Amino acid sequence: MDRRDFLKQGFLAALTLGGASLSQGRSPLREELQSVRSVIFFIYDGFDWENFTLARHFSLQERGRPLLLERLFQEGALGGLFTSSRNSLVTDSAAASTAFGCGQKTDNRYLGMLPDGRKLRTILELARAQGRAIGLITTTRITHATPAGFAAHVPDRDMEDEIAAQYLSLAPEVLLGGGSRHFDPERREDRRDLYAEYRRAGYSMLRTAEELERANGSRLLGTFAPSHLPYEVDRRFQGEPGPSLREMVQKGLAVLDGYDRGFVVQIEAGRIDHANHANDPGAMLWEVLAADEALEVVFDYVQRRPETLLLFASDHGTGGGVLYGLGGGYAHTNAGFAHLSNRRASYDWLLERWAEDRSEARIREEAREKLGVELSPEDLSRVLALLDGRVEVPDPVAYHTGTNALAWAVADGGSFERPEQLNVAYATGQHTAGIVPVAVLGGGVAPGPLGLVENTALFFWAARALGVPVTLDG
Ligand code: ZN
Ligand code: MG
Ligand code: ZN
Repeated sequence: MDRRDFLKQGFLAALTLGGASLSQGRSPLREELQSVRSVIFFIYDGFDWENFTLARHFSLQERGRPLLLERLFQEGALGGLFTSSRNSLVTDSAAASTAFGCGQKTDNRYLGMLPDGRKLRTILELARAQGRAIGLITTTRITHATPAGFAAHVPDRDMEDEIAAQYLSLAPEVLLGGGSRHFDPERREDRRDLYAEYRRAGYSMLRTAEELERANGSRLLGTFAPSHLPYEVDRRFQGEPGPSLREMVQKGLAVLDGYDRGFVVQIEAGRIDHANHANDPGAMLWEVLAADEALEVVFDYVQRRPETLLLFASDHGTGGGVLYGLGGGYAHTNAGFAHLSNRRASYDWLLERWAEDRSEARIREEAREKLGVELSPEDLSRVLALLDGRVEVPDPVAYHTGTNALAWAVADGGSFERPEQLNVAYATGQHTAGIVPVAVLGGGVAPGPLGLVENTALFFWAARALGVPVTLDG
């Protein structure tokens, strides 16, 4: 049978790429893809279709305009992504990112390699071999799973000190995110001074939003927090320091665009996932709006530079949060949802403050001011119990016990008939198995349905558009 039939019948096809033997499920190579100068991966971590629906309403409510993401879905090709990993129906971000970055399903926790120890060539390495510029931009630690699956090879995603060192050998022109603790000799276990080594390799070191704005180097290492960047809701309303994703993308694309031979960059809105783990819909929605503002910059770039391929995807759902119908005839549904307008801080941010000062008056006042929640005496006693470590949330549901319990205290306190209740309920604090959105813009791909594809497909689309030889070896 010829190669096309082989794929059509849905057999596993072995692929040879740069000498490595790969296999892939049913992910068509998309014959129509034209060659491009640059590829932009934009990953929303832990973003499911229900999040999209909530964010769509929230954007209209908060900003009086639709999500740009919706325009991408309309003007690009839109599909559904199967997310399972090699060993689990529910992927983690490491296996998902390896699928995007290397075109291969691996076990959870592995990055850029298979469980048997074989390393996979990442799309950033392949683009680098072609003389293209490369970059990673994220709101999480730059060494976190999603960016690392495009540029590193470790058997466990927690090996972030090692990932920071591996980035130096690949030397991407742009590295912007959090995670200074993995570069700082005071914080690294081996005491190695990676900052000094990056400086010697010609990088400008950026530690604040102001330094990012002023930066004019051609190689940037921005680590704007010891760990992840603050949640957007805390950055915007509580003055937590750090650049926005939009500011990082603006600078990153400007630098990468300066290289003649094109580039490949991975951009990640990484904390949608964290907010969903914490069952915190206010934090989640502001993360999505911040990502949308960064997407605007990307969209503009693609319009100005039509020889750019934009690959958008979520890596999996997280939390299973849903907006449910509230009240008889669901008459209070919209009023319940409208309460999200009052969110001015994340649960994480509040719990940290309340742990220091657990006066009842202060907790009641801050819940009112920063969450728009009127705590009943029962709600308040639950929050206090939680701060005292007396609340147990069952393991299958909890991720960060504190924030999940707070979610329960502030969201589930009311009855079905209370219009003052927020009507978003989460199923779990963990990742979920459902299909998630994937979209393609540019590269000659016609708008319309993309169909249902495996998460490995993004790698093959990028490889084809970049002219990386991918030969079927079936
Ligand atoms: Zn993820
Ligand atoms: Mg991530
Ligand atoms: Zn997660």
